Amino acid sequence: MATLRQRCQLTCAESMGYFVLVSSSMPRLNSLTIDVEDWYHVCGLAKEPVVRQSEWRVEQNIDRLLSLLARHGVKATFFVLGCVAESIPSLVPRISAEGHEIASHGFSHRLVYTLTEDEFREEIRRTGSIISSQSGEPPVGFRAPQWSLSRRRTPWAFDILAQEGYLYDSSCTPLPFIGEPGGDISPHKLGTLNGPLWEIPPLVTAAPLINLPTGGGWGLRIFPMWLIERSVKLANIKGDPAVFYLHPREMEADGPRLGLSAIASFAAYGPRSDVTSRVEQLLERYQFTTLRNLVKTWQ
Ligand SMILES: [Zn+2]
Repeated sequence: MATLRQRCQLTCAESMGYFVLVSSSMPRLNSLTIDVEDWYHVCGLAKEPVVRQSEWRVEQNIDRLLSLLARHGVKATFFVLGCVAESIPSLVPRISAEGHEIASHGFSHRLVYTLTEDEFREEIRRTGSIISSQSGEPPVGFRAPQWSLSRRRTPWAFDILAQEGYLYDSSCTPLPFIGEPGGDISPHKLGTLNGPLWEIPPLVTAAPLINLPTGGGWGLRIFPMWLIERSVKLANIKGDPAVFYLHPREMEADGPRLGLSAIASFAAYGPRSDVTSRVEQLLERYQFTTLRNLVKTWQ
């Protein structure tokens, strides 16, 4: 007779003092996403920094990410900033040639809630056109710079995305001060004036007072791995994917920084020395696919 361990994959969040059971028959596909921008693309600056091409780091850090993904045989979703794709035309073809999904991060890295509807549509179209010509396929996924798209602040943006042929958005992180505070932590289908659009929030960990950003940024860099893994397992038990996000600058522990406030600097650049080993651990232990593939399985 099969033992409990044989019937289930038994995992233990020891520090929390209880067990998390994951049925071996449960779908357990997750996603790693990368916002393709350079180290100086930080939202909300009074003036956009001018950085010489010799100081750009995005190419070498994308190469590190591509090597990491190839080592684990994982396909990821790359949300590419249009101005980066335009300035480095070899970048998107290189990522696409390895079978990864190319999605859109807008063109200029301006916050969506500071744009007019026409400006947002122009950002989407301009980046979509660049990606189509460089990868051979139009993007079907969007992520807003700094989670600046939400039903509360930019309800019109979902209608525009659906009208422009997008199948999903991954911007509404349910965190206290950004994204969509109080929003659903599971993927869900939105009705828009122009048809349905999937919303796929990144992984968060529900805590008594607030959700914790365990899916990326400073949260993925500093929260203990047992908490992050427990969150993956809990999401998978519900049948949800755990969606992680990275930035190329996080692949470089001592990379350059802009002079920011202490809080903004911590969020953008904060301890990066073990990001690679943390991501390696996740790629080794869990199954990953692109967001586009996940949406296909839901339709
Ligand atoms: Zn960004």
